[in-house]
Amino acid sequence: MDERDFFEERQETRKHTLNCPHCRQAAEYDLGWLVRHKKRQLPPRADEQDRAKFAKARSYMVRRDDLVGCKNVRCRKRFEVAGVQSVVFLDDVAAGTGRPDVDDDNFGNR
Ligand SMILES: [Zn+2]
Repeated sequence: MDERDFFEERQETRKHTLNCPHCRQAAEYDLGWLVRHKKRQLPPRADEQDRAKFAKARSYMVRRDDLVGCKNVRCRKRFEVAGVQSVVFLDDVAAGTGRPDVDDDNFGNR
């Protein structure tokens, strides 16, 4: 069984405040994420090994955008996304508390 069978996949866009390294201006950018939510249950065809792997699997999301174009019209240079994790685990969501362990306001400033 493939690890993909453990997750529901979907694409999401999230806003992040980034500082352009060229002009140092901060702006909000939409970054694309691939979100993989752990399924509640494994398909019935899962064997022992799949079950063990599934037990350890955690919901997570992977950042898809590495480059953004500066929003400052006098700059417009492309720069690499820095200060935003490329992989974020979503344990709180999986546990049903309803909120990811990502605080959008602080996200990217850590
Ligand atoms: Zn810039």
